[in-house]
Amino acid sequence: MADVFVVGAGLIGLSTAYELAQRGVAVTVYDRDEPAQAASWAGAGMLAPFSEATPDRELLALSRASLERYPGFVDGLRERTGVDVRLRRDGTMHVALGEAQLAALAAVADTFRANGGDVALLERGEVLAREPFLAKDLAGALYVANEAQVDNRRLGRALLAACRGLGVRFERVDEIALESDARRVRGVRTPYGFAAAPVVVNAAGAWAGALDGVPESARIPVRPVAGEMLAIALPPAAMRSLVWLGHRYLVPRDDGRLLVGATVVERGFDVRVTAAGMHDLLDAALAVAPALASFAVVETWAGLRPASHDGRPYLGATPIEGYLVAAGHYRNGILLTPVTARAIAALIVDGAAPELAPFACARVGGRLVPAANHTS
Ligand SMILES: Cc1cc2nc3c(=O)[nH]c(=O)nc-3n(C[C@H](O)[C@H](O)[C@H](O)COP(=O)(O)OP(=O)(O)OC[C@H]3O[C@@H](n4cnc5c(N)ncnc54)[C@H](O)[C@@H]3O)c2cc1C
Repeated sequence: MADVFVVGAGLIGLSTAYELAQRGVAVTVYDRDEPAQAASWAGAGMLAPFSEATPDRELLALSRASLERYPGFVDGLRERTGVDVRLRRDGTMHVALGEAQLAALAAVADTFRANGGDVALLERGEVLAREPFLAKDLAGALYVANEAQVDNRRLGRALLAACRGLGVRFERVDEIALESDARRVRGVRTPYGFAAAPVVVNAAGAWAGALDGVPESARIPVRPVAGEMLAIALPPAAMRSLVWLGHRYLVPRDDGRLLVGATVVERGFDVRVTAAGMHDLLDAALAVAPALASFAVVETWAGLRPASHDGRPYLGATPIEGYLVAAGHYRNGILLTPVTARAIAALIVDGAAPELAPFACARVGGRLVPAANHTS
C-alpha cells in the first residue's frame, strides 16, 4: 500500500511527490492526462513576487520564501536528473511609454521596495542600453533586479524524472473519486477499483474544487481563470529581462522564444486561443517593442489558473483527517512550487508546518464552502 496518494501531476502535485519521496514516503500520483501539462505547462515561469504588488503580507512572505528556495531546489533537481530548468535572474523591467506611465511607476516604486524589491528607476538611455529591442521613444522604466524566471516546461520534465528516479508511481485514470467516511480518508476509487491510503493530497489545479467524492465540508472553492499566451521566435539573447507593460509581459527564453502573456479571462474551463486574446497580446508587445513586428509567431496556447476566493492558495488539512489540499495558487503557482512542496511534505511527515497557518482551508468563513457550478 502506498503511504500517500496525490491527485494531480502538475508542478504542485509533482513537487509534493518529489519532496515526500525524498523523505522515504511511498507515493502514487494520479492524473487523467499526461503529467506536467495543464497550467504548469502553460505558465510563463516568472518568479516575480514584487512585480505582482500584492497587498497581502502573508502571501508576499510565502512568495519571497519560495523565491529564496529556488536555487537550491533547481540545483537538487539538476543533480538528480541532469535537467537544467534555466533559472535566470535577469530582473523585471516595467516599461513606461509616456510621462504619465513613468509617473505611475515612480509612485509604486516605494511599494515594490517596501515589499523587498531591489528597485531602480531607469532613464530611456539606460533601458535601451540593457534592452535594445525595446521602443526607441519609451519614457523610462522601473527595474526590479531581484526577480527571476524558470522554464516551467523543463521544470515539469525535471520533476517527473526525479519522481520516477525516486520510485514514485504514476497512474493515468479517466476518473477518480476520494473515498472517506465522515471523519477520515480511506483512499481513492478509480475505474480499476478501490485503493487504500491514509493520506490523499488534492493537487488538481483549477479542477481541485470539483474532485469527486469530497464531502461538502471539505470542498475548496477553486475556480478557473483562463490565460492566453503566444511565442515569437527571436535571435537567442536578443532580450534579457522580463518586460512588463501594465499587466502584459514579455519573457525571453534561452531557446530563442519570446513569450508574450497573458490575458486574464473568467469563462469557465475554456482553453481556446481567441482572436481577441491574440490581438490584445500583440498590441501590447508591439507597443513596447515595435521591432518584433517582423518576427514569426511560433506558438499560441492557453491555460487555466486555479483561483481561490481571496487570492491565497488553500494549503494543508481539511475537516476530513488525512485529506489535504494544495491548490488555488492562481498566478503564482510556479513561484510557489518549492515552498508548497516542502511545507506539505513537512505537514505529512512531521505533522506540522506552521508557515501554512495563514493558508488553512478552514479560513472560508470558519468552514469550507462548496465550489459553485464547476464542470470539467
Ligand atoms: C497563462 C498563464 C501564465 C502563468 N504565468 C505564471 C508565472 O509567470 N509565474 C507563476 O508562478 N505562475 C504562473 N501561472 C500560474 C501557474 O501556472 C499555476 O498556478 C500552476 O501551474 C498551478 O499548478 P497546479 O499543479 O496546481 O495545477 P495544474 O498544472 O493545472 O495541474 C493540475 C493537474 O491536475 C489534473 N487533474 C485535475 N482534476 C483531476 C481529476 N479529477 N483526476 C485526475 N487528474 C486531475 C490535471 O489533469 C492537471 O494535470 C500562469 C498560469 C497561466 C495559465
